[in-house]
Amino acid sequence: MTRYGYHCEDCEVAAFPATTHTELVWLKERAHVVREVARHSGGGLDSWMVEGLAFFDDHSGHSIAIIRKRE
Ligand SMILES: [Zn+2]
Repeated sequence: MTRYGYHCEDCEVAAFPATTHTELVWLKERAHVVREVARHSGGGLDSWMVEGLAFFDDHSGHSIAIIRKRE
């Protein structure tokens, strides 16, 4: 099975939220919008979104790429 995740090229660490490549791209491009919506709706994000946003917070300003792995 192929899984996709975010990889920080500055820190050499990765996270693999349980979702599709398409949705990882979507979240990466719209992270600031998703974060705003979550704030005003009082949560309700899927766990993969929470995980992805946390990764972006940890690596703010770093170079993040989407990678894949087989497991
Ligand atoms: Zn980083």
